[in-house]
Amino acid sequence: MTHLFNRQTFDEVMMPNYAPGAVIPVRGEGSHLWDQDGRSYIDFAGGIAVNALGHCHPELVKVLTDQAKTLWHLSNVWTNEPALKLAQQLCQLTFAEKVYFANSGAEANEAALKAARHWAIETFSADKHEIIAFNNAFHGRTLFTVSTGGQPKYSQGFGPTPGGITHLPFNDIDALDTRISHHTCAVIMEPIQGEAGIIPADHDFVRRARALCDENDALLIFDEIQTGVGRTGEMYAYQKIGVTPDILTTAKALGGGFPIGAMLCTNQVANVMGVGTHGSTYGGNPLACRVASKVLELISDPLLLDGVRERHLLFMDLLDQLNERCHLFHQIRGEGLLIGCELRNRWKGKARDLLVKAQDVGVMVLIAGPNVVRLAPSLIIPPEDIEEGLKRFGIAMSQFHDEHSEESDA
Ligand SMILES: *Cc1c(COP(=O)(O)O)cnc(C)c1O
Repeated sequence: MTHLFNRQTFDEVMMPNYAPGAVIPVRGEGSHLWDQDGRSYIDFAGGIAVNALGHCHPELVKVLTDQAKTLWHLSNVWTNEPALKLAQQLCQLTFAEKVYFANSGAEANEAALKAARHWAIETFSADKHEIIAFNNAFHGRTLFTVSTGGQPKYSQGFGPTPGGITHLPFNDIDALDTRISHHTCAVIMEPIQGEAGIIPADHDFVRRARALCDENDALLIFDEIQTGVGRTGEMYAYQKIGVTPDILTTAKALGGGFPIGAMLCTNQVANVMGVGTHGSTYGGNPLACRVASKVLELISDPLLLDGVRERHLLFMDLLDQLNERCHLFHQIRGEGLLIGCELRNRWKGKARDLLVKAQDVGVMVLIAGPNVVRLAPSLIIPPEDIEEGLKRFGIAMSQFHDEHSEESDA
């Protein structure tokens, strides 16, 4: 069948910074997607951990269309009721005393890093500007956030980059202990490194980081853009670890598919961010905030969060069974509905091949680096969709196994 727009069109008119799949999804409902030719897919990708309530959840469609008929945008020259309500919810659900709204994860982190620098300069001195971040971390794609992220390939070729940022090995208590000082203004980390391959922070490491920040008057920033809003089976991952940050960033699932990000912080931090210090034209617009407010209301339900933990067990059980058959994965790990399947050395670097095979048999998955297949489905995906999707994934695994074994036997 021919279509007015196809994958070819992408190459003609879009900047080549992405390599999208061959099919173009045109419709979604719950955990199902349909492409231009009407083929259906089970969606384990969830818009990269964004569509936490699946596609076109009826209650989100309702508040979105309601708000669309009421008020879309004002700017921050005036405040608005949906933003105030959402900020109140975030303060009630977390440690936060103040909230700043942005439109994406990177913008939320940009605000967090700027606020940390400004806090240190205002409270102490300009010498206290060091940001400590971790190897392989991902914090977004603005120049400050790629520089803070720990994957040099994302910042190389864009210099000069912002200075004063130190990268240390993740989960290495001694390295942090040795490096942190009174010149450190903040330590930023993901409770589970997402893009790096679903690598959880050791709880001891996080506790020690908190203590070291306190000893050195440095702020602890948790980037929960991927782990937040129920993804791990808790509202925010820090709540399970039992270590409270000074600043937390949240985006992705927060809007359930509508773009929004937020920075949560204590009064201590917020107090230095006076009128005019930072801002965003769209940040906190009523349309995005109204949707996010409903997302939080639905996801903070303890029954929904129990459901995430139950679904985790179902995924792990079925994935283990599939892996027993063809031994593709060296480890299957993660929390809640953020699951990483790391390929054995023999298939190193081939995660994308498996993603393409999965798509061909009707299941959408993600990768996290070259060796890890990542699953980040809707938090309310029906168990029968999990079973059907994993049945298809099992077929893709067998095909991948057979094809690549022939190669290595040859
Ligand atoms: C996705 C992500 C970001 C960047 O969010 P954008 O909305 O793409 O700017 C930052 N940090 C983490 C941990 C992420 O997973």
